[in-house]
Amino acid sequence: MTTIRRLYVLLCGFEIIPKTISTRDLGGRFILSEPICAYLLYTTTGWVLLDCGVNPRNLREPARLRTHYLDHGITPPIVRAEHEMERQFAEIGIGFGDVSHVILSHLHFDHSGYLRHFTHARISIQRRELDFAFGGQTSFAYIQDDYDDPALNWRPMDGDWEAQPGLTLLDTRGHTEGHQSAVIELPNSGSVILPFDAGDLQENFDREILPGESCDDAAALASIRRLKRITAERDGRMILFHDPVAIQQTRLAPEFYD
Ligand SMILES: [Zn+2]
Repeated sequence: MTTIRRLYVLLCGFEIIPKTISTRDLGGRFILSEPICAYLLYTTTGWVLLDCGVNPRNLREPARLRTHYLDHGITPPIVRAEHEMERQFAEIGIGFGDVSHVILSHLHFDHSGYLRHFTHARISIQRRELDFAFGGQTSFAYIQDDYDDPALNWRPMDGDWEAQPGLTLLDTRGHTEGHQSAVIELPNSGSVILPFDAGDLQENFDREILPGESCDDAAALASIRRLKRITAERDGRMILFHDPVAIQQTRLAPEFYD
């Protein structure tokens, strides 16, 4: 039995990046425009948010823009009005206050930007990711200011865990120290696998190509293979977080999968 009723895919903006960020050592001449997503679940016990976009303040305020992007030679993400989370929530008919549980794949800046809006919710994450993010050894991909808020209710988890019937999180360490992915069971659509950054593009799974960044290459490859295996076993579908082609065939909020 599943408690999940609807899956909404939120398109929260685009990152303009060399392809090697997604495919290790492959395609460095190509600059991709990769989507940034978040996922909202309507369940029998309330609303659950998986990941939460980029912080618009870091794009709007010149000092933050410089510190977090320009000084590192990174092109700032593109977030238009239609990508803003407030607006997408409003189109669905809810507000941030309706979300009682936020689950984070990892704490890179394109996954944790709206966290400060969810101090009323519990925030589940792998303990290893949390320890790494606060450990002082992070790269520019972590914007500590976005997640370092004493008002946040962290709930650290260890390994695979079930959030509620029909929503399982898988330990997919490799891209980062504590990366996790999700498997969702929907009443009509069946199994949906959300890899997040375990593999950005379809190519990462088809050809088993490592992500550009990893903390452990063997673990990153094992995570790609594990997600492929689970998708095949359950006859499920993957919904990719960063694939610029697949996103155009994905049903976007306010439409949903049920
Ligand atoms: Zn990442």
